[in-house]
Amino acid sequence: METTQIRDRLRTEVGQLRDPETGRSLQTNDQLGAIEVDHTKARITVRLSSHSRPISDAVKARVEEAARVAVPELTDVEVVIEPLERPPVPLGQLGLPVKSVIAVGSGKGGVGKSTVAAALAISLADSGARVGLMDADVYGPSLPHLLGISGRPEVVNGKIQPIYFEQIPVMSMGFLVEPDQAVIWRGPMLHGSITQFLRDTYWGALDYLIIDMPPGTGDVALTLSQLLPLTGAVVVCTPQQVALLDAIKAVSMFRKTKIPMLGIVENMSGFVCPQCNKQYDIFGRGGAREKAEELGVPFLGELPINIALREQSDAGQLAAAARDPVNAAALRRIVFALVEQVAQQAAAKPHGPTLPVL
Ligand code: ADP
Repeated sequence: METTQIRDRLRTEVGQLRDPETGRSLQTNDQLGAIEVDHTKARITVRLSSHSRPISDAVKARVEEAARVAVPELTDVEVVIEPLERPPVPLGQLGLPVKSVIAVGSGKGGVGKSTVAAALAISLADSGARVGLMDADVYGPSLPHLLGISGRPEVVNGKIQPIYFEQIPVMSMGFLVEPDQAVIWRGPMLHGSITQFLRDTYWGALDYLIIDMPPGTGDVALTLSQLLPLTGAVVVCTPQQVALLDAIKAVSMFRKTKIPMLGIVENMSGFVCPQCNKQYDIFGRGGAREKAEELGVPFLGELPINIALREQSDAGQLAAAARDPVNAAALRRIVFALVEQVAQQAAAKPHGPTLPVL
């Protein structure tokens, strides 16, 4: 094939792949940059927004694969990912400048829901996405404690200024009430505070807003789903049978409120002994994966039980624990699966002709 033919072929075939964020083709979105061809070598530039950064290696691999299939005589295919600035389209009736809103819930307390919500936010941010974290667990707001942040949010120009953990804006009832003060909320107050957190906080432009939900009850899920279109929910559970039953309840609660299920995370999965490196499955292991399959919900991955994680997060050092190599690798796998699910949702939106998923 002639060089120009190869280039045209690549532009047509690679251009049909979908952008993970919008679900539209790279060509439609003008995300396919230069295509350089030198005999049997090709160099393809693709522009991706920070929303897709957590899966950019997979996108690279898929572009390369599509190029090789389109032009089998190519011996070398190099894919270069360039950053694309794409501000969010204001979301829902609140006009929130956020691309994806993800609720993290559980059937009952104590399974590590807040830990996982915060750790996912850190892992997403470390991979290059812009992330915010909202504590909707108004009954037991633990994010400030886990992240070791405190302060009184100020109001500037009518907007509540969140407290930042590194680059991550965080809003929590924990900043507004004393930690030992029991918060007794009745329906309307709960609704009001959640609305205020979302509407009146200066979040800035975000790729992902992670919401730590209160365990069990559906009130907050209902309030949220009325305020803005949620991308979906993640349910955290531990491997014991009883915990799995609670997880089923959480899944059905999200389904009832028509919030799409992005997947289940198994927390406190096997324990790896720091001395002998042997793995002990204290609460069992793999139960959540099986249950997810049964429920027809994606399984996103597992986070091992880990003494350092507990000690560090109790001391306000969750970020250090989340960045420990073993935990960071587990979290990256979960984040990858999560962002892939978000991409599938975007692809499932009506966009005209069916295209191969990138
Ligand atoms: P929830 O939000 O479900 O109530 P938390 O996130 O507050 O749960 O976690 C409950 C306790 O379990 C905390 O002390 C936390 O440090 C600990 N924990 C959570 N996940 C793990 C884990 N993977 N390994 C060890 N301890 C954990």
